Amino acid sequence: MTRIVMVGARGRMGQAIVGLAKKDPSFEVVDEVDVGDAIAAQFGACDVIIDFTHHTATVEIATWAARAGKALVIGTTGHTASEREAVLACAERIPLILSPNFSVGVNALFYLTRRAAEILGEGFDREVVEMHHRLKKDAPSGTARRLAEILAEQMGGTYEELCRHGRLGDTGERTGREIGVHALRGGDVVGDHTVVFAGAGERVELTHKASSRDTFAGGALRAAAWLKGRGPGSYTMFDVLGLG
Ligand code: NAD
Repeated sequence: MTRIVMVGARGRMGQAIVGLAKKDPSFEVVDEVDVGDAIAAQFGACDVIIDFTHHTATVEIATWAARAGKALVIGTTGHTASEREAVLACAERIPLILSPNFSVGVNALFYLTRRAAEILGEGFDREVVEMHHRLKKDAPSGTARRLAEILAEQMGGTYEELCRHGRLGDTGERTGREIGVHALRGGDVVGDHTVVFAGAGERVELTHKASSRDTFAGGALRAAAWLKGRGPGSYTMFDVLGLG
């Protein structure tokens, strides 16, 4: 039995996670917290706190979790570098997973993207395209950012050095040392991601399309059950899924 506190419980993901957890006897939802609720009221009674809120909220949630000695699953995306650093510092005291995507399929996409980049080499231009529903608040998505980071790492660079967000005006020719990242918004799209490798005379595209939030919600619960009882540290979905 894993006892969870859901933070961001009235949001799209919060509702999906609480809905799944309540149907599964191996989870107990101890508390559902959202804006205006006392954030740590029930932390003492739970094993794992799950955060799907807004990037500005995660540092406070992680600080509370570290003080209470509770494991933390973070699905929230869009953190600034300093927010991310402050959150990850809490891993010295508690076990936590900060993942931009909890679906098994997207984690397979992360793995395949690295392999494809290694096989195809820098002769293939790399671009990432994502599409999400019109209510999404951050861009590019955390998943697109992670895909671009994987591509940049494989090229021996960083996201900040190599990524170009959209193109407008007199951009000049594309160089071999850039990764285009493009965010589309509209309708009720749950989450589409495509990694394009464009070479001379051929193109490889790796695509993942999520059609239900339950895929992320199920993965977040799987991560929570896996994290319960672990020692302090920053873990990943690759650890949870045994992808090494
Ligand atoms: P949403 O806007 O529907 O829900 C967010 C909820 O968090 C809202 O109910 C809001 O009131 C609440 N909230 C905001 N600040 C809070 C605070 N300080 N304390 C308590 N509650 C607070 O958004 P969503 O679609 O559910 O997505 C939430 C986050 O999860 C986003 O960052 C999104 O990008 C991310 N996300 C991650 C994954 C993944 O697999 N990691 C999947 C989908 C969405």
